Amino acid sequence: MIDFSLPERIQNQLQMAEYVARQVMRPHARYLDENEHERPHEYIKLMWPIMADMQARSLERERRKAEEAASGKAPERKKGPSSYFVGMMHLAEMLAWGDVGQYLCTPSALLGGTAIEAVGTLEQKERFLSRFADPNQPPAWGAMAMTEPGAGSDTSAISTTATLDEETNEWVLNGEKIFITNGGLALEESNGLCVVWATVDKSAGRAGMKPFVVEAGTPGVKVAKAEIKHGIRASDTVALVFDNCRIPYDNILGSAEVRDRSAASKKGFKGAMKTFDASRPIVAATAIGVARAALELTKEKLAEAGIEIRYDAPPHEMTAIERDIIEMEAELKATWLLTLRAGSMMDQGEPNALESSMCKAKAGDAGTRIAHRCVEILGPMGYSREWLVEKLARDAKIADLYEGTQEINLLIVARQVLNYSSSELPA
Ligand SMILES: Cc1cc2nc3c(=O)[nH]c(=O)nc-3n(C[C@H](O)[C@H](O)[C@H](O)COP(=O)(O)OP(=O)(O)OC[C@H]3O[C@@H](n4cnc5c(N)ncnc54)[C@H](O)[C@@H]3O)c2cc1C
Repeated sequence: MIDFSLPERIQNQLQMAEYVARQVMRPHARYLDENEHERPHEYIKLMWPIMADMQARSLERERRKAEEAASGKAPERKKGPSSYFVGMMHLAEMLAWGDVGQYLCTPSALLGGTAIEAVGTLEQKERFLSRFADPNQPPAWGAMAMTEPGAGSDTSAISTTATLDEETNEWVLNGEKIFITNGGLALEESNGLCVVWATVDKSAGRAGMKPFVVEAGTPGVKVAKAEIKHGIRASDTVALVFDNCRIPYDNILGSAEVRDRSAASKKGFKGAMKTFDASRPIVAATAIGVARAALELTKEKLAEAGIEIRYDAPPHEMTAIERDIIEMEAELKATWLLTLRAGSMMDQGEPNALESSMCKAKAGDAGTRIAHRCVEILGPMGYSREWLVEKLARDAKIADLYEGTQEINLLIVARQVLNYSSSELPA
């Protein structure tokens, strides 16, 4: 049986998240949408101690694992199944229900941290992640930069280079990255960091692509532009330029070897790419949170107009709106279960590439359709900026675009189902 019940600690965090969503995010949602590039200071202040505590626990787990491995002791098995990821997904869903743009500004290592946790050595985890684990320090952000003007879905086309300066033993990064979430917060507004994908050998294709950690304050990296967006306008999205940006040799994650066919090297690249298996269910959870918010607001407005949804009405008596709402609620619930399944597999350490892409593709599509149908159901007021539903419809679309577009995730699903490699079923 699949059990999605949450331990008490996560249930308490979820209650806190609901409070933050209602009392802090919602009251600022419209203002931050109208004033893109302002920061959700109140949300950040509230979330930082919670996120720092989570990062501290995660680092503690890493230290324990390393000690056990060094002593040859069998890893200590926790009693009962883990629910770490499923807990994270509940939090993401709830905070996105509050305001997904603000949620994306959550002070933590975020995607950059996921890559470091997946591939970094213990020394790298300590060096890079401890800044996210101390609530007494100012908040910090992590980012992950892959996309470039000439490389989006086809990541193997990246042209940012990392060249080793053998005299100084430093990597020198040159290139441009665009649409980087929290790039500004990470590199210019906090003591954060960005995991940057660059090629050490363009002729080697994917094998030459490596992730590098660029820390805030490193000369040679700058925010070139803050993007102006359709939705999630509270979220920080920037273009970054690397101009002879020098970083220590040890800031590479995984092996630097291109032709290295060792298990460790393969694990390095695949491990970093596997961060998507963790992040896609989280994106799906946020899409579900946004759609739930749109549905609930729509039902509230309908109720104010005297229209209650009669769940027990016989089908031949049901109005079109009742049927639509019930169908959308059922679809959202089914999508949530699919998403929880992907997260629960993550918790059990089971490969979840199929489920992760499946839930992301499904939630991006369902979330966008549901939020737009809510706009239609509410008529002109659904389209008005007086109510939040139009903003939710704009916010919903992003889940179909980042972390692999809808089409790319469907392609991954097809590969997994057919057991084809990327060369047998290319993009
Ligand atoms: C708000 C926002 C935040 C972002 N944050 C980050 C971030 O933090 N870090 C980062 O690295 N990137 C980030 N991105 C970039 C995002 O991941 C890319 O936009 C996405 O990967 C798509 O790339 P592209 O925009 O170049 O589109 P393209 O790859 O040019 O695709 C254009 C269209 O063609 C379709 N398409 C492409 N190839 C195929 C194919 N083989 N088969 C079928 N259809 C195909 C796509 O699905 C899409 O509909 C962000 C983007 C946005 C909008």
